[in-house]
Amino acid sequence: MSTAKGSGAHIIVVGAGIVGASAAYFLTQAGHAVTVIDADTPMAGASGASDGAVSVGSKKPGFLMQVAQRARDLYVELQRDGVLSGLFYSRPTYLFARNALEAEVLSLHATDLVDAGVRVDRLSTDELAHRIPGLSRSIVSAVSVPDDGHALGYQVVERMLRLAAPRIIRHAAVRSVRIEHGRAIGVETDAGFMGADAVLIAAGLGSKALLGLGEILRPRKGQIVITDRAADNQAAFDGQLMSASYLAAKRDVSASKRDPISLVIDPLLTGQFLIGGTREDGLGDGETTINYVSGMLRQAVDIYPSLEQRRVIRTFAGVRTATVDGIPIVGAHPHHAALTIATGFEGDGICLGPLMGRLAAEIVMGKPCSLDIGISPLSPSRFSAAVGLAQPSPTAQQR
Ligand SMILES: Cc1cc2nc3c(=O)[nH]c(=O)nc-3n(C[C@H](O)[C@H](O)[C@H](O)COP(=O)(O)OP(=O)(O)OC[C@H]3O[C@@H](n4cnc5c(N)ncnc54)[C@H](O)[C@@H]3O)c2cc1C
Repeated sequence: MSTAKGSGAHIIVVGAGIVGASAAYFLTQAGHAVTVIDADTPMAGASGASDGAVSVGSKKPGFLMQVAQRARDLYVELQRDGVLSGLFYSRPTYLFARNALEAEVLSLHATDLVDAGVRVDRLSTDELAHRIPGLSRSIVSAVSVPDDGHALGYQVVERMLRLAAPRIIRHAAVRSVRIEHGRAIGVETDAGFMGADAVLIAAGLGSKALLGLGEILRPRKGQIVITDRAADNQAAFDGQLMSASYLAAKRDVSASKRDPISLVIDPLLTGQFLIGGTREDGLGDGETTINYVSGMLRQAVDIYPSLEQRRVIRTFAGVRTATVDGIPIVGAHPHHAALTIATGFEGDGICLGPLMGRLAAEIVMGKPCSLDIGISPLSPSRFSAAVGLAQPSPTAQQR
């Protein structure tokens, strides 16, 4: 279903998170006029309430691990070309196990990474302790993924929107997509009808109501703790520490249902630590809770005791948009032309965001996919029976 071939078409992008902002960038680069509409403000969704792991090492084996490698490569390219200069940097992820069960998961995961062609260094616990001074000796095994990276979602959104310079409409929730003769011709918003040649829905969890994806998309809350800065404003070590319980949660969602905490300690360049996180399935509120915040801190101090010297300055929660099958939804709407969907990035959207924004833009433009792997796993048509559209309100229909 090609939508906006040639240049100069007017595209509406619904949602100013990392995916919508990246799509807007690639669409304007191709010569299209873009209007980005957000119910709130840019970065108001998960992209502004997340960690910044651009991590292949943490991905579920299979399709997502393959896509993440391309997504990480695109970050490297965009950084090199100046688009994301100063926002992305390469750094290792240190995956670690605290007991025999975690060691088993870690060993399996390391093998899957190697099979997928990802560079992996198996580290002795002495080597890990040398790289991360002050680490507890209770760690039983560790692996480093040297080519991972980091980027802050809100900074990527801000940069993409600045470079794209689309028309941005804030505080205008899109209520429905208007279809005429089987084709999207614009959107009904709180601020009235807006016409377009094509529409891209990249509204995170908001896509659920717009597309009738109630059974397909689920909220998954994540809580995070931020510490104060180090006296020297330097990262304490050179890469993120990620527990094998995080990998278990990624590989098998039921693991986080049993225990929602999967420990990550992220040493930010400011000298702060970001300590996460929870995966609370079905929860879409932005509240942090004493139970989980204290649980995460206890686990973090057990592994990295010098955290005891730090102050907590903030806690926050963000809401991931998860799909029932664990794969994002990116592609043409199965029933209507000129309508594209990009949602369901769960805990991977900062890593995947620019690549998925580019892919969504290609689909909007009816261009061939530039990825060298098949993208059929992303197709909305796998949920063809469910994917629909929100019904316009009677007042919107009369306008
Ligand atoms: C705690 C936490 C930690 C995370 N850590 C990482 C990480 O380390 N690495 C990683 O890769 N990913 C991480 N993620 C996941 C990542 O943040 C998300 O996958 C990504 O931000 C999703 O981007 P998006 O553009 O699809 O959606 P969002 O950022 O949620 O943006 C959607 C936008 O749509 C708008 N919207 C919604 N409904 C409507 C409507 N009806 N009309 C108009 N606008 C609408 C919203 O206001 C919002 O601005 C984390 C997420 C959380 C919550």
